[in-house]
Amino acid sequence: MTGERRHLLQQPATQPGGREPAPGELVLVQAFLNTHFDLEQNWGADLFEDRSALKRWLRARNLVRQATPVDHRDVARALAIRGALRDFARANGDGHGVRKADAIARLNEAGGGTQIEVHFAAGGPRFRSPRHSGVDGALGLVLATAATAMIDGSWRRLKICPGHDCDWAFYDHSRNQTGRWCSMSICGSRAKARAHYHRQRGAER
Ligand SMILES: [Zn+2]
Repeated sequence: MTGERRHLLQQPATQPGGREPAPGELVLVQAFLNTHFDLEQNWGADLFEDRSALKRWLRARNLVRQATPVDHRDVARALAIRGALRDFARANGDGHGVRKADAIARLNEAGGGTQIEVHFAAGGPRFRSPRHSGVDGALGLVLATAATAMIDGSWRRLKICPGHDCDWAFYDHSRNQTGRWCSMSICGSRAKARAHYHRQRGAER
């Protein structure tokens, strides 16, 4: 993998509250999970809403070529993988409402047929998309990167914020791994304010 390509894959997207993004290549998976809500250009848009949106996102990271066809099945597959991986990440936090066995089944179903190859180099083995593998290779790389993080343990820090209408995938950099919110200054303080309000209301009755 060239330096430029690695840079594209690892470009950190905007994070709420200035939180640090996930380290290394896991930032690709984090960005993939957060395509449900664009923070940068089209606030709130789903970056996988159709074929051209999915292709734009993959092109921006050099995961597919300009000539790569993207069809509606690719969009459905990307959404299914994203949904299942998000449930995996949700289980790293409070795991509220997550049935992990169900997420595993959905992930294996959606990820079936994606492509990846192992490249051996002096610096250690790396996963990469096979040449001309198109969207199957791009999604394979996302899955291989997530799998690598599950093996090295860093995956456990990738969590989904339980904030009302938030659902942001954030990387918990805290030493004891107890971070709960995408940003204490946004979702955390909102939740605190709500709890305070409800306590006040309770006391007045
Ligand atoms: Zn949040």
